[in-house]
Parts: sequence; C-alpha cells; structure tokens
Amino acid sequence: MNILILGGGGREHALAWAIRQNPKCDRLIVAPGNAGIAGIARCAELAITDGAAVVGFCEENAIDLVVIGPEAPLAAGVADALRAAGILAFGPSAAAAQLEASKSFTKEICDACGAPTAAWARFTDAAAARDHIARVGAPIVVKADGLAAGKGVTVAMTEAEAVAAVDAAFGGAFGEAGAEVVIEEFMAGEEASFFVLVDGTNCLPIGTAQDHKRVGEGDSGPNTGGMGAYSPAPVLTAAIQAQVMAEIVEPTVAEMARRGTPFQGVLYAGLMIADGRARLVEYNARFGDPEAQVLMMRLGAQALDLIQACAEGRLDSVTANWAEDHALTVVLAANGYPGDYEKGTAIRLPELTESSSRMIFHAGTALRDGQLVATGGRVLNATGRGATLAEARDAAYALAEAVDWPGGFYRRDIGWRAL
Ligand code: ATP
Repeated sequence: MNILILGGGGREHALAWAIRQNPKCDRLIVAPGNAGIAGIARCAELAITDGAAVVGFCEENAIDLVVIGPEAPLAAGVADALRAAGILAFGPSAAAAQLEASKSFTKEICDACGAPTAAWARFTDAAAARDHIARVGAPIVVKADGLAAGKGVTVAMTEAEAVAAVDAAFGGAFGEAGAEVVIEEFMAGEEASFFVLVDGTNCLPIGTAQDHKRVGEGDSGPNTGGMGAYSPAPVLTAAIQAQVMAEIVEPTVAEMARRGTPFQGVLYAGLMIADGRARLVEYNARFGDPEAQVLMMRLGAQALDLIQACAEGRLDSVTANWAEDHALTVVLAANGYPGDYEKGTAIRLPELTESSSRMIFHAGTALRDGQLVATGGRVLNATGRGATLAEARDAAYALAEAVDWPGGFYRRDIGWRAL
C-alpha cells in the first residue's frame, strides 16, 4: 500500500520509521519531511493544509492511506477532503478536531457526557471574567479558548496573575484565539497522557506517556513544546486506565457520534491524576510530539496495521500487542530555545546500525551542501527502548552523547519522576 504522511517533525519521522518496517508499506512519501525522514522515505513539497492540493497529490501518486501528523491540516479540514474523495485518512474531521481546537467545545462535551474535568466557565468580556476570579479566588486557570500553541494557558497562583491573564487575552495577546476565555478550577495532581485510537465507534488504547514541558532540569524554566518523554507512564495504572476509558474516552466518543461528528483518529487525553483517579485536562486530536516517538518505538511495525484498521473503521478486528518494554526520548534543542536561537548550525551524527530499540528521530533538520544543519528549536530526538525504564534511558542518553552538535543542548534528567 502507498502511504502519505503529512508533517515534518520528530513525530512524523517516528511514524514513518514504524510504518516503514511493515511489509505492507510499498511507497512511503512524507510532506514536507526533513533530512532524517529523507533517509527512509521520499520527501515531497505540498501545501499540507490545502485539502484540494492534498487530494490532487494523492491521486497523482496513487496514495492509498494518508496519515495526518500535525493539528493544522486537521483544523483545516484535510481529512474531510480526503474522505470526500474516497481516500483513506487517519485523522479526525475538522468538526471532530474541535476537541483540540476549542477548549469550551471540549468542556461542553464533558458536561454532556459526564466526563470528570475541572469546573469551568466561559467569558466574552473582561469585567465578567474579573468578577468571577474575585468570587472563586486563586489558584485558578485562565485559558484563551482557541489554539494558542500552548501559550494561551495561565495557571495563576494569585488573583492578580489571573486578572493579568484575562486582560492580556481580551487585549488581543492571542489574536482570535483569545476572544473568548475559559476560566477553570485548578486541579492538583500528576499529569500523564493516554492515547486511544478511535474509528468513530470503537476505541483501542495504544499506550501511555509522560513528557517534560519545561526547558530546565528539575522541570524548571519556561515552557517548551516538550523536552523529552517516556512510555509507559507508571502513574496511569491499569485501574486508572480502565476508569479513563469508562468515564472519559468512551462517553466522549459516544457523544461525538451522537452529534453526527464521530471522531476518527488518535484521541490524546491529557489527564490529571490525584487520589487514584484521573480527570481530563485537555484533548488533542493527534499524536503528541515527542510522545509519538516513544509510542512508535514501542509499537513498531504494527503501528501501520492499527492505523489502517482505524482509518477503515474496523478497530474491533485488531489488538495491540505489547512487549513488557519501556521507551524514553531526549530532545536535543538549539542553544537558546525556547527563546531566540541560532539556525543553520552544523550537526554530526554517529553512525547507527539499524535497530528496533534505538533511533535518532529528526525534528528540525535539513541537508545543506551535504552538511546536516539545524533548522528549528527542537532538532533531534534520541530515543531508546529497553526492558526497564532505566535501560531505555541509558540507551537514549548514549545516543544523545554521541551527537556532535556544539549548537545544541538537552536535559539530563528526562524520566526522573518515574525512575
Ligand atoms: P498544550 O497544547 O501546550 O498542551 P494547551 O494550550 O492545549 O497546552 P492545556 O493543555 O489545556 O493547554 O493546558 C496547558 C497546561 O496547563 C496543562 O498541561 C497543565 O499543566 C496546565 N493546566 C491546564 N488546565 C489545568 C487545570 N484545570 N488545573 C491545573 N493545571 C492545568
């Protein structure tokens, strides 16, 4: 089968790496891809948020299945365009991707299906929002309603901070995304992520993970897109996973179907765990990055069978086979990230023999005159797998240390909470 993956980060390199291993995969194209992906697939230029352009590309290249990596093409309705053209797509419709794109939409779904989450209220003007903050008090969480690349959320420890966040949102700091503000109860606990394939009706859990959002060791400093991750997440015990399926994921999937907007793709539930129970923090409508890197390393070739079954609406006919293993990924980022950083610095990678348990996934790289260079903030993902989390960590750090890149840095403590 001929497969097109949309995206060009570490998540898409990991998806390509796993899919490539499946003998069912004939031709593999990734748009736009990156220098690492170019080693295992054809990279193509394509306007990936333009549904008609993606459909046209699929017809020209006899593509059987499109795997949509990032959020932007989902929100732009690329999955809808593909399905309308009779092309198999892995990823939700624009309507179902609202579960990620709108925080108030997700809250309404939670209320409608009884899924446990933080108490919330929605505001369209600053005065009412300030009154609410004065009534409820801190700690409290202020969120721009729309997509703000993780920057629209303020976990305010004081009322003054919360009011400042409200004023920033209504002052236009997040553009359209901040025209509505959701204010939530603060939830204490430990965060973890749960990934479930959903074909509209059937649900298949495919793993748990935890990531490190802060740039500095000990989870200090500013927020980033993620500096590392590991799977499984020990805090998500079998009992809590069962609770999440029964109280959060299955009711959400049923409610989405009831509304005539069934969810098809990977539902990524961000959870807060306290006192042996999980509550929903947020949904994403796609794989996380860098969480996909550890999930794909654990799933390997079967990822394609599961993704295909999901796109074809027959998840009830497959099972995920888990080894008793662990995976951990360390993000190598450009010096200065998440602030200003230099682009174009030279990288030398170690020679790696092919292995199913260690891999350097590329996130932001390109080849310039035969030289590998960094093109983004997060650049490489050194990823290892082992029988224990400590083994996986050692494998990942051995890879990270073997990378010769004076222009980059990485955290030395990924996995500390679980180790
Ligand atoms: P991202 O896409 O970066 O994960 P986002 O903009 O979609 O973020 P959320 O995931 O809703 O926003 O919130 C970001 C972070 O803020 C969460 O991962 C969590 O750490 C914290 N957070 C959000 N809501 C709450 C809450 N009600 N109580 C405590 N912490 C919260």
